[in-house]
Amino acid sequence: MRRALIVVDMIHDFAHEGGALYCGPSMGKIIPVIQNELDRARAAGEPVVYLTDAHMPDDAEFQMFPPHAIVGTKGAEIVPELAPSEADVVIPKRRYSGFFGTDLDITLRERGIDTLRLVGDCTNICVLYTAADARNLGYAVEVVENGVTSFDEDAHRNALKELEKTLGAKMLRSAM
Ligand code: ZN
Repeated sequence: MRRALIVVDMIHDFAHEGGALYCGPSMGKIIPVIQNELDRARAAGEPVVYLTDAHMPDDAEFQMFPPHAIVGTKGAEIVPELAPSEADVVIPKRRYSGFFGTDLDITLRERGIDTLRLVGDCTNICVLYTAADARNLGYAVEVVENGVTSFDEDAHRNALKELEKTLGAKMLRSAM
């Protein structure tokens, strides 16, 4: 098994109060868990890949959600608490799934990755749809339950069920 840690959308607009689509106070709980996962992955030599929402100013997604994560704005930047290291990879995306229209799949395959461990937000949107595409492409998926969150607690819980029961993701809790 060769695993990569995938950090989903830990950008200002979602993760910090005042951001365009702030997820809420649960962000304060998952940030230390993700820091812990980053330390673990880097120490183990596991590749770390950040997926970041990166929208055009008139992106079609803004028909459903208020404008957020516009390329070139602070809102689209990874929060400094979780800053990437030199060796990490950052992959911008315009859709929920980190695989759609991006280099994610070839980036993982070039590194011989067969297992993805997901942390970040939102559990029911970008985490869920990235996990779904990962499973379609044949990757094993692990989700750190206390390292993912959403602005919608019910949707978060339903997505955890969907990840486990329908997508066959391995659910785990990271030590703090
Ligand atoms: Zn978006």
